[in-house]
Amino acid sequence: MVHLLGDLEFRENTMATKTNLYNLTRDEMESFVLSLGEPRFRTKQIWHWLYRPLVTSFEEMGNLPKALREKLAEHATLGTLTEVAEIHSTDGHTQKWLLDLPDHEKIEAVLMEYDVRNTACISVQVGCAYACAFCATGRMGLIRNLEAGEIVSQIVHVERELRRDGPPEGDHALTNIVFMGMGEPLANYNDTIKAVTILNDHEGLNIGARRMTLSTVGLVPAIRRLAEENIQVNLAVSLHSPIDEIRSELVPINRQYPIAELMDAVRQYIATTGRRITFEYAMINEVNDTPEQAHALGRLIRGMLAHVNLIPLNPVPGSPWPASDPKRIDEFVGILRSYGVNATVRMRRGIDVAAGCGQLYAAVEGRGRSIVPISDYPSKDAVDQVVRQRIHQGKVL
Ligand code: SAH
Repeated sequence: MVHLLGDLEFRENTMATKTNLYNLTRDEMESFVLSLGEPRFRTKQIWHWLYRPLVTSFEEMGNLPKALREKLAEHATLGTLTEVAEIHSTDGHTQKWLLDLPDHEKIEAVLMEYDVRNTACISVQVGCAYACAFCATGRMGLIRNLEAGEIVSQIVHVERELRRDGPPEGDHALTNIVFMGMGEPLANYNDTIKAVTILNDHEGLNIGARRMTLSTVGLVPAIRRLAEENIQVNLAVSLHSPIDEIRSELVPINRQYPIAELMDAVRQYIATTGRRITFEYAMINEVNDTPEQAHALGRLIRGMLAHVNLIPLNPVPGSPWPASDPKRIDEFVGILRSYGVNATVRMRRGIDVAAGCGQLYAAVEGRGRSIVPISDYPSKDAVDQVVRQRIHQGKVL
């Protein structure tokens, strides 16, 4: 399909700035090729060079005439990301990169290699607007959205890294992608969905949408919108407490979209898509890991096509909270199971590489960039007070 409007946009664009080819879906690539006065069939050739051998320059595109390669160099870029820092976990299974964008903002991407899975955890924004109390990225505030091409380039970066060990068996060595790095995927909705489309393209990296998971802080209108999209991507919802007073302290957006509304949207999502949802739950000692909250969570989601991922809190420097004791986690899981709720405890992979959201950024960039002052965060005292009140009212066991 040719988008005429797209053509015009490209012409205007190319006069001013070069087009980052990773920003284009295959349809848009076709419009771009036509806007250069080139035949349609060049689209697939260029697309293959980008996503099969993952070339880093136009010169490598061997089956294109020299004149076209020069034209591409004049009008387009292969917007690559520059490594600022790379760290490896001591167990050798996790690598994390701090990557520099063209405007010198920085983002994190992580590769986890366990068993037969190679999972990339990538960012969708520089920073994040939602200020969850335990999250390192939340301290930065939102700096900007990433473009689709900047999201795609992180995967290209990780995939190249994996191929150092040899060529992949199929079209890609990566098996899974989680959008759980910096930022909120559903707040950068269009570029995130576009990146999914590009990564999923069967002529390109061909990574199944079912192998990708978008994680959301709980943006209700966007969850409802996602339910109507015709893509097979998985959805994870960061719940962290089944009790509004406590969730509002940990995940402040809960004040706008409280649990009842969130659950309505999640039920609609499951009913429309037929897909299982994952609830993420960072286990914080004596804050959200009480038996009362386990029961409340069990009652809230029993019977739903859902799964709970319990993640012992990844300690963030300066954060007042410790991870839950393993005993408390076991008890929590036991209570959930008594409601027939499926729960697993996720290993804290790459904990020694600061693999938690935003932690490498914080370590390299320091705190100076914080837009939201740390003092504006709900303090440990504020959360403890809510918990204490509930104990006083006999609500917390
Ligand atoms: N904004 C999205 C995705 C990015 S965060 C979201 O909120 O879901 C990915 C997951 O990591 C979320 O569940 C988030 O709550 C969790 N997370 C952030 N900091 C963490 C920490 N220090 N320990 C454990 N989980 C954390």
